[in-house]
Amino acid sequence: MFDYLIVGAGFAGSVIAERLASQSGKKVLICDRRNHIGGNAYDHYNDAGILVHRYGPHIFHTNSRDVFDYLSNFTAWRPYEHRVLASVDGLLLPIPINLDTINKLYGLKLTSFQVEEFFASVAEQKDYIRTSEDVVVSKVGRELYEKFFRNYTRKQWGMDPSELDKSVTARVPTRTNRDDRYFTDTYQAMPLHGFTRMFENMLTHPNIKVMLNVDYREIQKVIPYREIVYTGPVDEFFDYRFGKLPYRSLEFKHETHDKPLFQSAPVINYPNEHAYTRATEFKYLTGQEHLKTSIVYELPQAEGDPYYPVPRPENAEIYKKYKAIADATPNVHFVGRLATYKYYNMDQVVAQALATYAKLSERSTWHPEDVQVSPKALAPDQDLSATKKNGGKALTST
Ligand SMILES: Cc1cc2nc3c(=O)[nH]c(=O)nc-3n(C[C@H](O)[C@H](O)[C@H](O)COP(=O)(O)OP(=O)(O)OC[C@H]3O[C@@H](n4cnc5c(N)ncnc54)[C@H](O)[C@@H]3O)c2cc1C
Repeated sequence: MFDYLIVGAGFAGSVIAERLASQSGKKVLICDRRNHIGGNAYDHYNDAGILVHRYGPHIFHTNSRDVFDYLSNFTAWRPYEHRVLASVDGLLLPIPINLDTINKLYGLKLTSFQVEEFFASVAEQKDYIRTSEDVVVSKVGRELYEKFFRNYTRKQWGMDPSELDKSVTARVPTRTNRDDRYFTDTYQAMPLHGFTRMFENMLTHPNIKVMLNVDYREIQKVIPYREIVYTGPVDEFFDYRFGKLPYRSLEFKHETHDKPLFQSAPVINYPNEHAYTRATEFKYLTGQEHLKTSIVYELPQAEGDPYYPVPRPENAEIYKKYKAIADATPNVHFVGRLATYKYYNMDQVVAQALATYAKLSERSTWHPEDVQVSPKALAPDQDLSATKKNGGKALTST
């Protein structure tokens, strides 16, 4: 008898599996319908021997010491500060927009003080900020919005920023100095030997069994367990009874080139030209030395694997209904980005998973009569509202 069946071996499932096994002595079966652990953060060596991220670039950054310390139990780190250039008007310019972006774009020599005045002079006054477009134009004006943001967003979301809720772009990071780092978090680093190796180290505990290539519904009836931790899509769990929760998907086009370096920055955004939004060269992220180099292009899609929840009020309404039955479902704990229909960064999912483990471990010891999905066995699912929320995702992706 397993104490827990954990559905999904991404960050959410793996963190909870590791904690339950190593700290509470629980017996855990973790399954994934993919043929690998790591969820979307999975990385692997491709045919050329280059470490690549199958599901697009994953860059670790956090302000949470707890999260960083926790993951440090399973990996050493390679310090890495991410940088992104945007291809605009035939130039490659730092993004987030900083002093150099403005000076290079307009051939100016503004100082930090003057660029602040520049932003103030172009910003459009808005009485009420409702949409993503409002957020951007009220900060950097219409011209920069058109050059850097509008078309990127249209590609990414399949919608104009004027149709997207302001929460998609809670804030537009602009800098009046020359700081060209993409993130400003306290901890910025990549797992020294990759994400997958880190996940392997998390899941080595003898109390953890891993099953790949299996949908939990195939084994649910034949393998005994007490409770479920579910990190898959919440609407799928309930057979889409309130309708499908919309997601934006991506197609990843991986390429290997017969030269050591392909582009001049780890990521180049293409707001205006091409169907893809950005190109990433992995060797910058991993520090790997190799005579060849591998890159990935991201092409946003309406259909496909669920990647980005679409933040519109009507979708939030649908999710509310799923959340209500999820909360009322005994012995099933919904954790992670798909189960809570939120765009979370990796560190946020780790924080959410650690908070869930803390709640699970606080509960009283097992009742002998506990059996699979017994309604009287457990306290209602925990309220995760206290875990760190996404502070709003920029119009460009992470
Ligand atoms: C393109 C892209 C780039 C990103 N870049 C960054 C970044 O740079 N930095 C950052 O911090 N975050 C980034 N993220 C976010 C990051 O991917 C997530 O925070 C993280 O992967 C979430 O982990 P999770 O465990 O919740 O979900 P997932 O990683 O999706 O894991 C869920 C797992 O559950 C499995 N599953 C689902 N249903 C079933 C079922 N019925 N049976 C069995 N298994 C099932 C799935 O196969 C999947 O492996 C990015 C996301 C995307 C889409």
